[in-house]
Amino acid sequence: MTEASMRPVSDLGDDDVVLPFVIEPLESRGRVVRLGASVDAILARHGYPEAVARLVGEAAALTVLLGSALKFEGRFQVQTRTNGIVDMIVVDFDAPDRLRAFARFDAEALALAQAEGRATPLQVLGTGHLALTIDQGNDMSRYQGVVPLEGQGLEDAAHQYFRQSEQIPTLVRLAVAQSVTGEGVHWRAGGLIVQFLPHSTDRLRQADLHPGDAPEGGDYHEPSEDDAWSEAKALAATVEDHELVDPTLSSERLLYRLFHERGVKVFGGQPIREACRCSTDRITEMLRRFKPRERADMVGDNGRIGVTCEFCSTHRDFEPSDFEASDLDPA
Ligand SMILES: [Zn+2]
Repeated sequence: MTEASMRPVSDLGDDDVVLPFVIEPLESRGRVVRLGASVDAILARHGYPEAVARLVGEAAALTVLLGSALKFEGRFQVQTRTNGIVDMIVVDFDAPDRLRAFARFDAEALALAQAEGRATPLQVLGTGHLALTIDQGNDMSRYQGVVPLEGQGLEDAAHQYFRQSEQIPTLVRLAVAQSVTGEGVHWRAGGLIVQFLPHSTDRLRQADLHPGDAPEGGDYHEPSEDDAWSEAKALAATVEDHELVDPTLSSERLLYRLFHERGVKVFGGQPIREACRCSTDRITEMLRRFKPRERADMVGDNGRIGVTCEFCSTHRDFEPSDFEASDLDPA
Protein backbone atom coordinates (compact mmCIF):
# COMPACT_ATOMS: atom_id res chain seq x y z
CA MET A 1 0.00 0.00 0.00
CA THR A 2 1.36 3.42 -0.85
CA GLU A 3 0.27 6.45 1.07
CA ALA A 4 0.42 8.56 -2.06
CA SER A 5 -2.32 6.52 -3.72
CA MET A 6 -4.83 7.33 -1.02
CA ARG A 7 -6.53 10.48 0.06
CA PRO A 8 -5.68 11.74 3.54
CA VAL A 9 -8.31 10.63 6.01
CA SER A 10 -8.95 14.14 7.22
CA ASP A 11 -10.72 14.81 3.91
CA LEU A 12 -13.25 12.12 4.68
CA GLY A 13 -15.80 11.43 7.33
CA ASP A 14 -15.11 8.31 9.35
CA ASP A 15 -18.18 6.50 8.10
CA ASP A 16 -17.62 4.08 5.26
CA VAL A 17 -13.84 4.35 5.45
CA VAL A 18 -11.20 1.70 6.18
CA LEU A 19 -8.22 3.10 8.07
CA PRO A 20 -4.93 1.11 8.07
CA PHE A 21 -2.51 1.54 10.96
CA VAL A 22 0.75 0.19 12.34
CA ILE A 23 2.06 -0.14 15.89
CA GLU A 24 5.78 -0.33 15.09
CA PRO A 25 7.16 -1.11 18.57
CA LEU A 26 4.86 -4.16 18.69
CA GLU A 27 5.50 -5.16 15.05
CA SER A 28 1.75 -5.27 14.60
CA ARG A 29 -0.53 -3.70 12.07
CA GLY A 30 -4.20 -3.63 11.28
CA ARG A 31 -7.24 -1.83 9.96
CA VAL A 32 -10.33 -0.30 11.49
CA VAL A 33 -13.59 0.12 9.56
CA ARG A 34 -16.75 2.03 10.39
CA LEU A 35 -19.74 1.35 8.13
CA GLY A 36 -22.62 3.83 8.17
CA ALA A 37 -24.67 4.70 5.08
CA SER A 38 -23.28 1.75 3.10
CA VAL A 39 -24.41 -0.98 5.47
CA ASP A 40 -27.60 0.91 6.31
CA ALA A 41 -28.54 1.00 2.61
CA ILE A 42 -27.96 -2.74 2.25
CA LEU A 43 -29.95 -3.71 5.36
CA ALA A 44 -32.74 -1.18 4.79
CA ARG A 45 -33.31 -2.27 1.18
CA HIS A 46 -33.83 -5.88 2.19
CA GLY A 47 -35.78 -4.97 5.32
CA TYR A 48 -34.11 -7.77 7.26
CA PRO A 49 -35.42 -8.66 10.72
CA GLU A 50 -33.01 -7.66 13.51
CA ALA A 51 -31.20 -11.00 14.01
CA VAL A 52 -30.59 -11.31 10.24
CA ALA A 53 -29.49 -7.67 9.95
CA ARG A 54 -26.97 -8.13 12.77
CA LEU A 55 -25.42 -11.17 11.07
CA VAL A 56 -25.21 -9.47 7.67
CA GLY A 57 -23.77 -6.32 9.29
CA GLU A 58 -21.05 -8.36 11.03
CA ALA A 59 -20.29 -10.26 7.84
CA ALA A 60 -20.05 -6.96 5.92
CA ALA A 61 -17.60 -5.47 8.44
CA LEU A 62 -15.51 -8.67 8.34
CA THR A 63 -15.50 -8.71 4.54
CA VAL A 64 -14.32 -5.11 4.27
CA LEU A 65 -11.63 -5.67 6.95
CA LEU A 66 -10.19 -8.65 5.09
CA GLY A 67 -10.89 -7.61 1.49
CA SER A 68 -9.35 -4.17 1.86
CA ALA A 69 -5.95 -5.80 2.53
CA LEU A 70 -5.78 -7.22 -0.99
CA LYS A 71 -3.46 -5.45 -3.36
CA PHE A 72 -5.20 -6.15 -6.64
CA GLU A 73 -8.35 -5.30 -8.55
CA GLY A 74 -10.38 -8.37 -7.81
CA ARG A 75 -13.12 -9.70 -5.60
CA PHE A 76 -13.11 -10.96 -2.06
CA GLN A 77 -16.17 -12.90 -0.97
CA VAL A 78 -17.33 -14.09 2.44
CA GLN A 79 -20.05 -16.73 2.38
CA THR A 80 -21.75 -18.72 5.12
CA ARG A 81 -23.59 -21.99 4.45
CA THR A 82 -25.29 -23.32 7.56
CA ASN A 83 -28.23 -25.38 8.78
CA GLY A 84 -29.78 -22.43 10.65
CA ILE A 85 -32.80 -20.26 9.91
CA VAL A 86 -30.35 -17.94 8.09
CA ASP A 87 -28.82 -20.63 5.91
CA MET A 88 -26.74 -18.42 3.61
CA ILE A 89 -25.06 -15.02 3.77
CA VAL A 90 -23.02 -13.68 0.87
CA VAL A 91 -20.93 -10.51 1.03
CA ASP A 92 -18.87 -9.31 -1.96
CA PHE A 93 -16.11 -6.76 -1.76
CA ASP A 94 -14.91 -5.60 -5.16
CA ALA A 95 -11.57 -3.86 -4.71
CA PRO A 96 -10.98 -1.13 -4.01
CA ASP A 97 -14.28 0.09 -2.63
CA ARG A 98 -17.53 -1.71 -3.60
CA LEU A 99 -19.61 -3.62 -1.06
CA ARG A 100 -22.80 -5.67 -1.55
CA ALA A 101 -24.52 -8.36 0.51
CA PHE A 102 -27.60 -10.51 0.92
CA ALA A 103 -28.88 -13.24 3.23
CA ARG A 104 -31.27 -16.14 2.67
CA PHE A 105 -33.53 -17.09 5.54
CA ASP A 106 -36.80 -18.79 6.44
CA ALA A 107 -39.09 -15.92 7.50
CA GLU A 108 -41.76 -18.21 8.99
CA ALA A 109 -39.24 -20.15 11.09
CA LEU A 110 -37.66 -16.88 12.21
CA ALA A 111 -40.98 -15.46 13.39
CA LEU A 112 -41.60 -18.63 15.39
CA ALA A 113 -38.08 -18.56 16.88
CA GLN A 114 -38.56 -14.92 17.87
CA ALA A 115 -41.86 -15.71 19.56
CA GLU A 116 -40.15 -18.49 21.49
CA GLY A 117 -37.17 -16.32 22.48
CA ARG A 118 -34.54 -18.30 20.60
CA ALA A 119 -33.59 -15.89 17.83
CA THR A 120 -30.18 -14.51 18.79
CA PRO A 121 -27.86 -14.04 15.80
CA LEU A 122 -25.84 -17.14 16.77
CA GLN A 123 -28.99 -19.23 17.22
CA VAL A 124 -30.40 -18.33 13.81
CA LEU A 125 -27.03 -18.87 12.12
CA GLY A 126 -26.78 -22.51 13.19
CA THR A 127 -23.76 -24.58 12.21
CA GLY A 128 -21.99 -25.19 8.91
CA HIS A 129 -19.05 -23.41 7.37
CA LEU A 130 -17.61 -20.06 6.40
CA ALA A 131 -15.84 -19.74 3.06
CA LEU A 132 -13.45 -16.92 2.16
CA THR A 133 -12.80 -16.62 -1.57
CA ILE A 134 -10.32 -14.45 -3.41
CA ASP A 135 -11.15 -14.12 -7.09
CA GLN A 136 -8.65 -12.16 -9.17
CA GLY A 137 -10.66 -12.26 -12.38
CA ASN A 138 -10.83 -14.25 -15.61
CA ASP A 139 -7.46 -15.92 -16.04
CA MET A 140 -6.10 -15.47 -12.55
CA SER A 141 -6.17 -18.01 -9.77
CA ARG A 142 -9.05 -18.42 -7.38
CA TYR A 143 -8.31 -19.18 -3.77
CA GLN A 144 -10.75 -20.44 -1.17
CA GLY A 145 -10.30 -20.98 2.56
CA VAL A 146 -13.02 -22.78 4.52
CA VAL A 147 -13.51 -22.93 8.28
CA PRO A 148 -16.28 -24.64 10.22
CA LEU A 149 -19.00 -22.59 11.91
CA GLU A 150 -19.84 -24.52 15.05
CA GLY A 151 -21.80 -22.00 17.05
CA GLN A 152 -18.81 -19.74 17.67
CA GLY A 153 -19.73 -16.79 15.43
CA LEU A 154 -17.89 -14.93 12.71
CA GLU A 155 -15.19 -13.34 14.88
CA ASP A 156 -13.90 -16.67 16.17
CA ALA A 157 -14.28 -18.29 12.76
CA ALA A 158 -11.99 -15.57 11.39
CA HIS A 159 -9.46 -16.30 14.16
CA GLN A 160 -9.55 -19.95 13.22
CA TYR A 161 -9.01 -19.11 9.56
CA PHE A 162 -5.90 -17.05 10.30
CA ARG A 163 -4.49 -19.72 12.63
CA GLN A 164 -5.01 -22.58 10.20
CA SER A 165 -4.66 -21.10 6.74
CA GLU A 166 -2.52 -18.01 7.09
CA GLN A 167 -0.56 -18.81 10.26
CA ILE A 168 -0.70 -15.15 11.26
CA PRO A 169 -1.55 -14.27 14.88
CA THR A 170 -4.72 -12.20 14.43
CA LEU A 171 -7.38 -10.53 16.52
CA VAL A 172 -10.70 -9.57 14.92
CA ARG A 173 -13.49 -7.61 16.60
CA LEU A 174 -16.88 -6.94 15.00
CA ALA A 175 -19.88 -4.93 16.19
CA VAL A 176 -23.28 -3.94 14.81
CA ALA A 177 -25.71 -1.38 16.21
CA GLN A 178 -29.20 -0.26 15.44
CA SER A 179 -30.39 3.26 16.16
CA VAL A 180 -34.08 4.11 16.17
CA THR A 181 -34.87 7.75 15.47
CA GLY A 182 -37.99 9.65 14.44
CA GLU A 183 -37.00 9.02 10.82
CA GLY A 184 -36.77 5.27 11.27
CA VAL A 185 -34.27 2.54 11.96
CA HIS A 186 -30.63 2.95 10.96
CA TRP A 187 -27.81 0.43 11.08
CA ARG A 188 -24.11 0.83 11.69
CA ALA A 189 -21.30 -1.71 11.77
CA GLY A 190 -17.66 -1.55 12.78
CA GLY A 191 -14.64 -3.79 12.89
CA LEU A 192 -11.03 -3.94 13.99
CA ILE A 193 -8.31 -6.34 12.86
CA VAL A 194 -4.83 -6.46 14.39
CA GLN A 195 -2.11 -8.83 13.14
CA PHE A 196 1.38 -9.70 14.34
CA LEU A 197 3.75 -9.36 11.38
CA PRO A 198 7.28 -9.36 12.81
CA HIS A 199 10.37 -8.90 10.63
CA SER A 200 11.82 -12.09 12.07
CA THR A 201 9.88 -15.27 11.29
CA ASP A 202 11.37 -16.92 14.40
CA ARG A 203 9.30 -14.56 16.46
CA LEU A 204 6.23 -15.52 14.48
CA ARG A 205 6.81 -19.16 15.40
CA GLN A 206 6.94 -18.32 19.08
CA ALA A 207 3.69 -16.42 18.98
CA ASP A 208 0.48 -18.03 19.98
CA LEU A 209 -0.73 -19.83 16.86
CA HIS A 210 -2.48 -22.82 18.37
CA PRO A 211 -4.26 -21.81 21.55
CA GLY A 212 -7.05 -24.30 20.92
CA ASP A 213 -4.89 -27.38 20.48
CA ALA A 214 -4.51 -28.44 24.11
CA PRO A 215 -5.48 -32.11 24.40
CA GLU A 216 -7.73 -32.78 27.37
CA GLY A 217 -5.79 -34.12 30.31
CA GLY A 218 -2.58 -34.23 28.25
CA ASP A 219 0.75 -32.76 29.27
CA TYR A 220 0.26 -29.85 26.90
CA HIS A 221 2.21 -26.66 27.58
CA GLU A 222 0.99 -23.26 26.43
CA PRO A 223 3.37 -22.09 23.71
CA SER A 224 5.37 -19.09 24.84
CA GLU A 225 3.61 -16.20 23.20
CA ASP A 226 5.75 -13.42 21.86
CA ASP A 227 5.59 -10.50 24.30
CA ALA A 228 4.97 -7.91 21.59
CA TRP A 229 1.98 -9.81 20.22
CA SER A 230 0.64 -10.51 23.71
CA GLU A 231 0.65 -6.80 24.39
CA ALA A 232 -0.86 -5.78 21.02
CA LYS A 233 -3.60 -8.35 21.44
CA ALA A 234 -4.33 -7.31 25.02
CA LEU A 235 -4.61 -3.64 24.04
CA ALA A 236 -6.82 -4.37 21.00
CA ALA A 237 -9.06 -6.68 23.04
CA THR A 238 -10.07 -3.79 25.30
CA VAL A 239 -12.14 -2.27 22.46
CA GLU A 240 -15.83 -2.18 23.36
CA ASP A 241 -18.64 -2.87 20.91
CA HIS A 242 -20.06 0.62 21.36
CA GLU A 243 -16.68 2.17 20.47
CA LEU A 244 -16.66 0.35 17.13
CA VAL A 245 -20.04 1.78 16.13
CA ASP A 246 -20.00 5.18 17.88
CA PRO A 247 -20.47 7.85 15.15
CA THR A 248 -19.08 10.56 17.45
CA LEU A 249 -15.79 8.73 18.06
CA SER A 250 -13.43 9.07 15.09
CA SER A 251 -11.42 6.05 13.97
CA GLU A 252 -8.19 7.91 14.68
CA ARG A 253 -9.36 8.78 18.16
CA LEU A 254 -10.34 5.14 18.75
CA LEU A 255 -6.89 3.91 17.68
CA TYR A 256 -5.24 6.49 19.92
CA ARG A 257 -7.36 5.29 22.85
CA LEU A 258 -6.29 1.69 22.29
CA PHE A 259 -2.62 2.01 21.39
CA HIS A 260 -1.31 5.46 22.41
CA GLU A 261 1.08 4.01 25.02
CA ARG A 262 3.07 2.38 22.22
CA GLY A 263 2.45 4.92 19.50
CA VAL A 264 0.19 4.16 16.57
CA LYS A 265 0.79 5.41 13.05
CA VAL A 266 -2.26 5.87 10.83
CA PHE A 267 -2.22 5.74 7.01
CA GLY A 268 -4.63 7.30 4.53
CA GLY A 269 -8.17 5.95 4.56
CA GLN A 270 -9.89 4.00 1.81
CA PRO A 271 -13.54 5.00 1.25
CA ILE A 272 -16.12 2.19 0.88
CA ARG A 273 -19.46 2.41 -0.94
CA GLU A 274 -22.49 0.23 -1.32
CA ALA A 275 -22.74 -0.75 -4.97
CA CYS A 276 -23.96 -3.76 -6.90
CA ARG A 277 -22.20 -4.88 -10.04
CA CYS A 278 -25.20 -6.48 -11.72
CA SER A 279 -26.15 -5.15 -15.16
CA THR A 280 -28.46 -5.98 -18.05
CA ASP A 281 -25.43 -6.98 -20.13
CA ARG A 282 -24.09 -9.39 -17.52
CA ILE A 283 -27.47 -11.07 -17.04
CA THR A 284 -28.02 -11.28 -20.82
CA GLU A 285 -24.68 -13.05 -21.10
CA MET A 286 -25.60 -15.39 -18.25
CA LEU A 287 -28.99 -16.26 -19.85
CA ARG A 288 -27.27 -16.88 -23.20
CA ARG A 289 -25.28 -19.73 -21.62
CA PHE A 290 -28.45 -21.75 -20.94
CA LYS A 291 -29.89 -24.17 -23.47
CA PRO A 292 -33.06 -22.95 -25.26
CA ARG A 293 -35.26 -25.48 -23.45
CA GLU A 294 -33.81 -24.38 -20.10
CA ARG A 295 -34.60 -20.77 -20.97
CA ALA A 296 -38.11 -21.81 -22.03
CA ASP A 297 -38.67 -23.10 -18.49
CA MET A 298 -37.80 -19.66 -17.12
CA VAL A 299 -40.50 -17.81 -19.06
CA GLY A 300 -43.13 -16.39 -16.70
CA ASP A 301 -46.87 -15.82 -17.11
CA ASN A 302 -46.16 -12.49 -18.83
CA GLY A 303 -44.20 -14.28 -21.58
CA ARG A 304 -40.89 -12.86 -20.45
CA ILE A 305 -37.91 -14.05 -18.43
CA GLY A 306 -37.80 -12.13 -15.16
CA VAL A 307 -34.54 -11.91 -13.21
CA THR A 308 -34.23 -10.26 -9.80
CA CYS A 309 -30.75 -9.53 -8.42
CA GLU A 310 -30.46 -11.07 -4.95
CA PHE A 311 -28.02 -8.39 -3.84
CA CYS A 312 -29.76 -5.16 -4.87
CA SER A 313 -33.31 -6.44 -5.64
CA THR A 314 -33.28 -4.84 -9.12
CA HIS A 315 -35.79 -6.64 -11.35
CA ARG A 316 -35.20 -6.98 -15.08
CA ASP A 317 -37.40 -8.57 -17.77
CA PHE A 318 -35.96 -10.20 -20.90
CA GLU A 319 -37.64 -11.17 -24.21
CA PRO A 320 -37.09 -14.91 -24.83
CA SER A 321 -36.93 -14.27 -28.58
CA ASP A 322 -33.91 -12.00 -28.14
CA PHE A 323 -31.83 -15.06 -27.32
CA GLU A 324 -33.05 -17.50 -29.98
CA ALA A 325 -31.92 -15.49 -33.00
CA SER A 326 -28.26 -15.57 -32.03
CA ASP A 327 -28.28 -19.05 -30.62
CA LEU A 328 -25.88 -21.48 -32.31
CA ASP A 329 -26.55 -24.34 -29.93
CA PRO A 330 -28.55 -27.00 -31.85
CA ALA A 331 -29.94 -28.45 -28.58
ZN1 LIG B 1 -27.69 -6.11 -8.27
